[in-house]
Amino acid sequence: MQTPDYQRLDRAHHLHPFTDFKALGEEGSRIIERGEGVYIIDSEGNRILDGMAGLWCVNLGYGREELVEAATAQMRELPYYNNFFKTTHPPAVRLAETLCRLAPPHINRVFFTGSGSEANDTVLRMVRRYWALKGQNDKQWVIGRENAYHGSTVAGVSLGGMAPMHQQGGPLVPKIAHVRQPYWFQEGRPAGHDPDAFGRECAAALEAKIQELGEDRVAAFIAEPVQGAGGAIIPPASYWPAVKAVLAKYDILLVVDEVICGFGRLGEWFGSVHYGLAPDLMPIAKGLSSGYLPIGGVLVGDRVADTLIEEGGEFFHGFTYSGHPTCAAVAQRNLELMEAEGVVARVRDDLGPYLARRWQALESHPLVGEARCLGLIGALELIDPATGERFDESLAVGNLCRDLCFASGLVMRSVGDTMIISPPLVITHAEIDELVDKARRALDATLERLAAITSDTHEESLT
Ligand SMILES: *Cc1c(COP(=O)(O)O)cnc(C)c1O
Repeated sequence: MQTPDYQRLDRAHHLHPFTDFKALGEEGSRIIERGEGVYIIDSEGNRILDGMAGLWCVNLGYGREELVEAATAQMRELPYYNNFFKTTHPPAVRLAETLCRLAPPHINRVFFTGSGSEANDTVLRMVRRYWALKGQNDKQWVIGRENAYHGSTVAGVSLGGMAPMHQQGGPLVPKIAHVRQPYWFQEGRPAGHDPDAFGRECAAALEAKIQELGEDRVAAFIAEPVQGAGGAIIPPASYWPAVKAVLAKYDILLVVDEVICGFGRLGEWFGSVHYGLAPDLMPIAKGLSSGYLPIGGVLVGDRVADTLIEEGGEFFHGFTYSGHPTCAAVAQRNLELMEAEGVVARVRDDLGPYLARRWQALESHPLVGEARCLGLIGALELIDPATGERFDESLAVGNLCRDLCFASGLVMRSVGDTMIISPPLVITHAEIDELVDKARRALDATLERLAAITSDTHEESLT
C-alpha cells in the first residue's frame, strides 16, 4: 500500500483521538512507518526528529532490540495471565519490586493499570476510600488545577482542568474542584510583580478553595510537578513549598501525577524528587515502558497503603490488564536499561543543562516571548513581535509553526501558541543541536509566512 491508500482507508474507517474527524479526512493523515533512535520515518521516506518522544513516552528512543526481546521472550513463556483472585506472575512481581526500589523510601507498593487515565481513576477511588476507612466520610472533594491533563476517562477528564474537554460528554464526576495554575507567562507576568510572589498567590488560591469547601471535606490535591500537556508549565520556585505547607496544614493527601515527569524527564527518577514533594500517591505510565507497550500504575505511599491493607478488606477495583505480564516484562527491561546506561543522571548533569543553553538562545528570536526548560521538557511562548503580546487566537500561529516544523523535519507540538518539546532521553548533543536549529528555522518560516499574509486573507491562508 502507498500513502494515498493508507489515507483513503484511514479516512473511511478510523476515528483518531483528539481530532476534528472531518478536517483530518479532508487533509489526509501523515503515515509514520518506522522509528530509529530519536527519528521517525513516514511513508514518503521523510526522516523526522521526534521532539516529543511519541507522546512524551519513547524515552529510550525507537528500535531498542532489548525491549523487543523482552516482549518476545515473555510472550513465549506466558503472554497473559491476570493478577486477580490471589494469583500473580514473575514479571509483575519483579516490576513492583523495581518500581518501589526506585521510588522514594516511603513508597513501597504499586497498583498496576493499563494506562495513565486508569491510574488516575484508581487514584480517585483510592483517596476517597482511604478517608472513608479513616471514618471521614465527608472527605471526598479532590482539588485539581485549571488546564491540567490527567487523562481521558471520565475520572481523568474530571480531575483534569481542560475546559474544552469539560464541555463534551458530561456530566463529570461530582466533588472535583479546580484552582489556578502556576503559569506565570499566561496568567501573571504583570509589571512590578515577580514569579515567586505569583507562585505563593497560586498556593493561597488552593488554601482559599480548601476553606471554601471545608477542610474536613477535601480528600486530596492532584497536580503534575511540571504541567505537561497544559504547555510544559514550570512553576515558580516558591510554588511547591507553599503548596506543601498548605496541604500539611489541613491534612490533605498529595497526588503527584508522574505520567510525564516520571522516569527521568526532569533529571530524577520522579519529578517529585526534583521538587522534594514526598507525595502520598504517584500515578505513572508513558515512560514506564518507553511507550513500547501500554502499562501504568499508581505508586502508593505507606500512609494510604497501610490503611487499605490493614483496615480495608477487599478493594473492589482492577483491570483485566493490571500488571499484564508482557507489558510488565518490557517495563522491567526498560528500567533496567535506564539504570545500566545511567540515563537519568545524564539528563540531570549533561543533557538538561546542554539543552537549556541551546534552548535559551531561542529567546532572542522576535517571535519568542519566553523560552523555558527543565531536564528534557521545554516550551517556547510565541508572541507578536509588533506588540510583545500574544497573537489573536484565530490566527492559530502555534499550529502554523507546528506544521512548518513537521515540514522541516521536526516534531514540535503546539498548545495554543506555546510550542513544546519533550524529546527521547537518549538524544545526543548533536541531535539537540539539530532540534534547536530546526526549531529556529521553523520560527523564521512562521515569521515569513505571517508577514506574507495580508490581514484580510489571514483566515484562509492559516487554516
Ligand atoms: C498522558 C497523561 C495521562 C493519561 O495517560 P494515558 O495513558 O493516555 O491514559 C495522565 N496524566 C498525565 C499527566 C498525562 O500526561
